[in-house]
Amino acid sequence: MSFPPLLPTYARADVAFVRGEGAYLFDEEGRRYLDFGAGVAVNALGHANPHLIAALTEQAEKLWHTSNLYRVPGQEKLAQRLIETTFADTVFFTNSGVEAIEASIKTARRYHFANGAAERFRVVTFEGAFHGRTLAAIAAGGQKKYLEGFGPKVEGFDQVPFGDTRALAETVTDATAALLIEPIQGEGGLRPVPPEFLRHLRTLCDERGMLLIFDEIQTGIGRTGKLFAHEWAGVEPDIMAIAKGIGGGFPMGACLATAEAAKGMTTGTHGTTFGGNPLAMAVGNAVLDVVLAPGFLEHVQRVGNYATQQFSSLIADYPAVFEDLRGEGLMLGLKMRVPNTDFIDSLRARGMLAIAAGDNVVRLLPPLIIEEPQVREAMEKLSAAAQEFVARSSE
Ligand SMILES: *Cc1c(COP(=O)(O)O)cnc(C)c1O
Repeated sequence: MSFPPLLPTYARADVAFVRGEGAYLFDEEGRRYLDFGAGVAVNALGHANPHLIAALTEQAEKLWHTSNLYRVPGQEKLAQRLIETTFADTVFFTNSGVEAIEASIKTARRYHFANGAAERFRVVTFEGAFHGRTLAAIAAGGQKKYLEGFGPKVEGFDQVPFGDTRALAETVTDATAALLIEPIQGEGGLRPVPPEFLRHLRTLCDERGMLLIFDEIQTGIGRTGKLFAHEWAGVEPDIMAIAKGIGGGFPMGACLATAEAAKGMTTGTHGTTFGGNPLAMAVGNAVLDVVLAPGFLEHVQRVGNYATQQFSSLIADYPAVFEDLRGEGLMLGLKMRVPNTDFIDSLRARGMLAIAAGDNVVRLLPPLIIEEPQVREAMEKLSAAAQEFVARSSE
């Protein structure tokens, strides 16, 4: 029996892109697509961004890799900038989101170990969460479809229903090290956590000596119109995992922490061969050049508000197709009354990309550099696809 050369863990769409430009992708046949997926919130500055190309090629001509056995100036620079713009005092660079989650969980556990409370290692998460695909991260995410068949669930994760204050109070014990939450659930269906719930988590952590970990892998780096989504709620974590947008398409992530929370992570406790490599750091710094430039986040807010206003009108126009619009900034989701994946297929056939999420949601995650005309173009494609579904159902 022949097995596919690529492990078939993805149900890939039959399209291959060969080139990109801003918010557009081009396939092998030269067809153009409006990219409202951005590689799952990764291409924050769009495709083939000249500033990122320059940063990467300039670094590529100098040095690719040296390892973390030596100082990496790009890491020092990027860490300093992340520290200046966030709650954090220290940063560990990774290659991916899930490694940033692993580092966050390890940091939280070591904090209690350093405090002489090694028995305090449990982490509480929330239903609908997604934190990545390592054995620990699927245990943290708690979703049966990702855990099934992979042996015993990694010990030390407890889950409570989304937003359930009472269940949380009952689940937290003296063995709880940390609470881990996405300020807006991404894969789970664009579910924003109410700001008052985030504030409640902060208070609870302070009262019980627990650490608060935010997973801002999808929500971070300007996606919601603030540098980080938790800024909307005015609540700061002790530890935060980031990835996706910070690399603009170059694989990288980071775990940020306060000095207090990171106190257990002493020499030799953690490591990575590739994390924080000079190429990644050059791109990460270049992404921040753009995202931190005056007016950029305001641009995301303005276009995000316009998109919200436009896409909201779809619900009134096609009530049989759309149920509601969720999200913040340019992290938006349409809750569907028709199957989300069918709708996404129809959009793709019309030259627009969007991404499915849980709870039958179509995620709209365009590059943050889009302007109003791209929102109008998306409106046309969304309306045309919706009309097709209305016509289908009346056949
Ligand atoms: C994508 C994502 C992850 C996992 O990141 P990888 O780079 O795929 O490992 C974790 N948490 C959230 C919220 C994500 O969106």
